[in-house]
Amino acid sequence: MSITVETLSQLLKEKLTSSFGKSLEEATTKEVFQSTCLIMKDSIHPNWQMTQQTYDQNESKQVYYFSMEFLLGRMIETNLLNMGLLDIYKETLTSLGFNPEDVFREEHDAGLGNGGLGRLAACFLDSLASLELPGYGMGIRYKYGLFQQKVVNGYQVELPDYWLEDEYMWETKRDDKAIEVRFGGTVETTVLNGQLQFQHHDYERVLAIPYDVPIVGYNNNTVNTLRLWSAESTTNHFHFHSSRGHDYYHYLDYKRSIEKISEFLYPDDSYYEGKVLRLKQQYFLVSAGLQSIIRRYKKQNKPLHQLSKHVVIQINDTHPSLVVPELMRLLLDEEKLGWNEAWSITQETVAYTNHTTLSEALEKWPEDMFTTLFPRLYQIIEEINERFCKMLWYDYPELREKIPEMAILAYGQIHMAHLAMVGSFSINGVAKLHTEILKDRVMQPFYTVFPKRFNNKTNGITHRRWLLNVNPNLANVISEAIGTEWIHQPEQLTKIIPFSTDSSFQESIRKVKHENKKRLASYIKEHYNVIIDDQSIVDVHIKRLHGYKRQLLNLFHIIHLYNSYKENPALEMTPRTFIFGAKAAPGYTFAKQVIKLINAVAEKINNHPQVSKNLKVIFLENYQVSLAERIIPAADVSEQISTASKEASGTGNMKLMMNGALTIGTQDGANVEISEFVGNDNIFTFGLTSEEVFAYQQSGEYNARDYYNNDRRLRNVMDLFVNQHFSGDDVDFKDIFYSLLYNNDEYFVLKDFDSYIDTQKHVDQTYQNQSDWLSKSIVNIGHSGAFSSDRTIKQYAQDIWNIRPTKIESHVKTYY
Ligand SMILES: *Cc1c(COP(=O)(O)O)cnc(C)c1O
Repeated sequence: MSITVETLSQLLKEKLTSSFGKSLEEATTKEVFQSTCLIMKDSIHPNWQMTQQTYDQNESKQVYYFSMEFLLGRMIETNLLNMGLLDIYKETLTSLGFNPEDVFREEHDAGLGNGGLGRLAACFLDSLASLELPGYGMGIRYKYGLFQQKVVNGYQVELPDYWLEDEYMWETKRDDKAIEVRFGGTVETTVLNGQLQFQHHDYERVLAIPYDVPIVGYNNNTVNTLRLWSAESTTNHFHFHSSRGHDYYHYLDYKRSIEKISEFLYPDDSYYEGKVLRLKQQYFLVSAGLQSIIRRYKKQNKPLHQLSKHVVIQINDTHPSLVVPELMRLLLDEEKLGWNEAWSITQETVAYTNHTTLSEALEKWPEDMFTTLFPRLYQIIEEINERFCKMLWYDYPELREKIPEMAILAYGQIHMAHLAMVGSFSINGVAKLHTEILKDRVMQPFYTVFPKRFNNKTNGITHRRWLLNVNPNLANVISEAIGTEWIHQPEQLTKIIPFSTDSSFQESIRKVKHENKKRLASYIKEHYNVIIDDQSIVDVHIKRLHGYKRQLLNLFHIIHLYNSYKENPALEMTPRTFIFGAKAAPGYTFAKQVIKLINAVAEKINNHPQVSKNLKVIFLENYQVSLAERIIPAADVSEQISTASKEASGTGNMKLMMNGALTIGTQDGANVEISEFVGNDNIFTFGLTSEEVFAYQQSGEYNARDYYNNDRRLRNVMDLFVNQHFSGDDVDFKDIFYSLLYNNDEYFVLKDFDSYIDTQKHVDQTYQNQSDWLSKSIVNIGHSGAFSSDRTIKQYAQDIWNIRPTKIESHVKTYY
């Protein structure tokens, strides 16, 4: 049964009246948005309840995905899409005189993540529900998400992201499911009946309140849960002394100190900062999450020693790795199990995903911070460490020398990746190359000890959001050619590959891309007052700003083109529009200078009478999920140019490929697998390989200055920006210059410049043969199904989690 425009209009009118007391004519777009959500919840919530009941009744094994970040973006379109209502709803809104886009834009992005790691968690939730898998997300309900970026005079300015300003329509607060989390205090050890007992005194109590967000599966009845924890205080946890007036102020201080725990998301990506509050956040998530799992588990009267038969906990990087000692604490101190039993349960239940080998991103907490905040956990970690080191000493004599570098506790620090690896049954990397680097290099001694634990799960993205939803016209062209089966089985996208040389199919693909470019161009005209040529190559570099992601290398190419055009105005080249989107961590000075430099170059080029005819550079501010959704469908070229070995996987590369962009990239992360799928003719690969990078790092033979001295083009690029050609007297970019020449260019920008310039020339030449370009684009779309997160999640479910689909029968009227 499918619903009609008339029925939906009626529902909407009724909801506007019952919720806002307004007629359609009086309603604001915000009220229309909110009423739409309420109507959707009326059919989501009964299925949500049914899903949770079914999981309990079937005793389905469940995965709990613990992550400090869930970068959800907006949910309204995904939810409508998954419910099968997106098209009819758009039609309804239009027929009622509303622009659907305006209505959807009323939803504030849920920006509870920095970048790839948080977006991965969000894509995984979508795939779990769409594959009818019992899965739960555990995260933090930060009051402020990742900062909003404004560009003022070319500089990044950070503004707080108060995403809860309008009520968050999807969440449901569950006061009855609150959990107490304890910080600080002292541990008293006593002996009772010959057994050691640990009592925790004088701790600070924090109330963890869950806010549950429903995760709707595609075209099924499954509604899973994302549970976001909020730190709150209650007056009954504070001891008032009635005679003392300032207790009230003490109470306010206390309340503020507690609420700080879930106040904001740390804005660092692939970088570790040893901040107490961050550590408190990590423990807050872990303790609240684990306690709620165990409470639910015990309610079902299942024995604890079978926990791993029913529950598996996946930790997204080391951020939640305190699950290891905290689960031990709960089993030992609360459940009174012995060490060995508690340890096997813990090890069999926890699985760890590694996301980085960058040394500046590896978490190492100071011991003293730990002993103060978690005195009991510290004892447990000491014990885990001692047993692990002893085991190494006796069972792996060949590794004795390595014990100090493998220990969990060493040199006054707690090494979280070691804790995670020792305490879990699975350790996975996120792309083939990355997993190999873990095994052969970064975690090599651990691989010797635990070879069976290591495995690879190449990241993925949900094709529902990143193709069906963001690029409906492309989805239609595909479905017209090969039918709609690919929507359920994205691997079937390969069926379009035989059409890659079909000129009428090429023409349809070209048209869609062109329409998408026009749409982006009008957005840019409206918001930036820059006119971009919709016939130009749209070249996009969108991701966090980081030295290793090498936005600077891209910019060097742009400045080189600028020089070339000035030298030879008759230069034959397809016009290009370079688009950047990137937030820099507020304390990352180098990254912020790169933003300023991009904007300075953009200003100069876009206003240059001749050069601007062929080149445009746009820095789009506030890169976030909803902006990615706007840019990606319009992209021709996808910049994936990290220093080889540094990008664990990347997922932006997959989104762009799925929308028909061709990749210019290094052999890094998942680029390697993309090139294996599409073949070398359908991707533009350049630069040092990871092996070459390692060799240079080992030999110390790289000398950046030689490249500067010997390559006139490079000198012409670099001299321009230090000589304030782009910025006037406003700013010099000496930090950038110094990092390249005095700190010997850690990321090999100068080394890869030549190869990059050459390859970019090749990109231009290829684009001039449109038929050739389109066929490559089609091959890329055709292979992108392999990078659907459905494939990734099926692999996790089979190889790590051992969970199976559970069909949810719906007894309620739904609109599917
Ligand atoms: C996909 C995505 C990322 C990750 O991009 P990479 O290119 O893989 O670094 C970061 N931020 C947002 C908003 C995204 O949607």
